[in-house]
Amino acid sequence: MMTIDNYNFAGKKAIVRVDFNVPLDENGNITDDTRIRGALPTLKHILDNGGALIIMSHMGKPKGKPAAKYSLGQIKDAVAKALGVAEVKFAPDCAKAQAEAAALKAGEVLMLENLRFYPEEEGKPVGIEKEDPAYEAAKKEMKARQKDFAKTLASYADCYVMDAFGTAHRKHASTAVIADYFDADNKMLGYLMEKEVKAVDNVLSDIKRPFIAIMGGSKVSSKIGIIENLLGKVDKLILCGGMTYTFAKAHGGNIGGSIVELDKLDVALGVEELAKKNGVELVMAPDAICGDSFSNDAKQLVCPSDAIPEGWEGMDAGPEAQKKFAAAIKGCKTILWNGPAGVFEFDNFCGGSRAIGEAIAEATAEGAFSLIGGGDSVACVNKFGLADKVSYISTGGGALLEAIEGKVLPGVAAIKGE
Ligand code: AMP
Repeated sequence: MMTIDNYNFAGKKAIVRVDFNVPLDENGNITDDTRIRGALPTLKHILDNGGALIIMSHMGKPKGKPAAKYSLGQIKDAVAKALGVAEVKFAPDCAKAQAEAAALKAGEVLMLENLRFYPEEEGKPVGIEKEDPAYEAAKKEMKARQKDFAKTLASYADCYVMDAFGTAHRKHASTAVIADYFDADNKMLGYLMEKEVKAVDNVLSDIKRPFIAIMGGSKVSSKIGIIENLLGKVDKLILCGGMTYTFAKAHGGNIGGSIVELDKLDVALGVEELAKKNGVELVMAPDAICGDSFSNDAKQLVCPSDAIPEGWEGMDAGPEAQKKFAAAIKGCKTILWNGPAGVFEFDNFCGGSRAIGEAIAEATAEGAFSLIGGGDSVACVNKFGLADKVSYISTGGGALLEAIEGKVLPGVAAIKGE
């Protein structure tokens, strides 16, 4: 397999899929540039080796249509600054960038507009439900269009570098299909991909115990696959965040106006049963910090997670829960964290996530390997100033979890030819 270190970029145009899906504030300023920094080693290496760069990425979920708030044009100057180049040129239509690509010279950088302004990037038919009898035909047609789109992107460059770990679990035009249009000697993984894949291998191949996973976030449904999978690997599992209330409800508790998935109560009970069967210690929040509205300035009430009065919603792990989480993490040797323990974006409801982050930092100082993944957990670690106190911060959320599940990521398979 070709590697980025073996490839001679001199005089070549490299099209690089990065993950610049960075969070922006309402004025279009980047609030967390972890993903841009993550791609820099690959991008700088190509420029330093005499190549020209064509950078492509998605941002947000524009659903196959152009939308100004998702324009990558907003971040091109920040990317230029991070790369240390005077200018990043911009192609406002990623599927019609032939002229801009042809004019590109060694040492120059061109960024394509958001790939997801075209439905072909994701390759899913638009405006038709799966139940529709015409769905299969529409899907086939979209797959053909996806190939054409990938071929167009490929035509801009001499070689392809896949460095978007955050989307490597998706078989999209730019993350996987495009690789078909380059021969084996002209496609490779970037440094970030190599590093991320190795970090997962480190965790899985030599698990130091006790191994604890902390899964938070808003819903149990989006994480059930990985939760079930982790129950076969970990010694302890902290389940926190919004999913707490689906578990409390499943046991007949009162959860007031807390976030809940009423159709997942049996799933919650199934998780508890599997944990018991596998001898995994399941750690959940005994108490909650509730708010009387979903805002930072809401009035607060601390109460048991399963006895929340009407008019209140659980928005953070309570003081007892915070102590319990910290105690569970203490002494662990392998730690995986994905998803916050509360609405951490509100300063008044971030205490649970902070307690987890600080306990992870302490355990890491005592020799644990800690792996943090998913945009929100990474944002937490950055918000609490703990980024240099954990072992590894992944740029991937879903991709990290699928890799941990042991799945081969399509973005990796496309390069390795698996
Ligand atoms: P996810 O996208 O499922 O990983 O969830 C991340 C989001 O979950 C964050 O934006 C948090 O604000 C949110 N979250 C965490 N705990 C709660 C809670 N108790 N109620 C509502 N949202 C929550």
